[in-house]
Amino acid sequence: MRIIFATGNKDKLREIGQIMEGCDIEIISMKDAGITGEAEETGHTFEENAVLKAEYVYEKNGKKTGDLVVADDSGLEIDTLGGEPGILSARYMGKDTSYHEKNADLIRRLDGISDENRTARFVCAMALICPDGRKIVVRETMEGRIGYSEAGENGFGYDPIFYLPEYGMTSAQVEPEVKNSISHRGKALRKVRDIIIREYPGVTH
Ligand code: IMP
Repeated sequence: MRIIFATGNKDKLREIGQIMEGCDIEIISMKDAGITGEAEETGHTFEENAVLKAEYVYEKNGKKTGDLVVADDSGLEIDTLGGEPGILSARYMGKDTSYHEKNADLIRRLDGISDENRTARFVCAMALICPDGRKIVVRETMEGRIGYSEAGENGFGYDPIFYLPEYGMTSAQVEPEVKNSISHRGKALRKVRDIIIREYPGVTH
């Protein structure tokens, strides 16, 4: 049994590999499974888009092959911006705009906003499709605040502006193991992992 992870995002794949370390289940990317193209993210919620991504791979993989398919849809919600960029996080200001520019733009939009009103969260919806077609979706978040400048080299995307008050650092400054232990993706993937271990007793951690 193996998991095909429905993403081409190398940063996500790296985190997923770290989080699943020690679990005796093979994780491969959709590219390694020979699946090209990607689902259109036409959903209105993280959950809907995660399911669309997983269904795309499940169908392209020939449906009932014995493989598990997992997909995540994630993003940053900033409260004072009404939840923006939200499900459009990857597409904010255009897919090809650098995160340095996206981060600078968000900081500029929060100009004059006090610390307590800079609250934000990363959200991750993760969809699992079992070999028999059953679908399970989980959702997890990581709470924080938008900082005043970029800081840190770890992580990716919006991590350099995502300040974690309990750590006094951004999620790009904490060690990867720390981020994975508290992150939206880490928590969602551990839930999915535990569901898989429960459903398929041959898989251990
Ligand atoms: P998706 O690939 O459609 O799920 O897009 C998710 C986008 O949300 C990413 O491209 C990042 O911009 C942002 N994002 C999600 N998770 C993280 C994270 O852990 N750190 C930084 N940015 C993230």
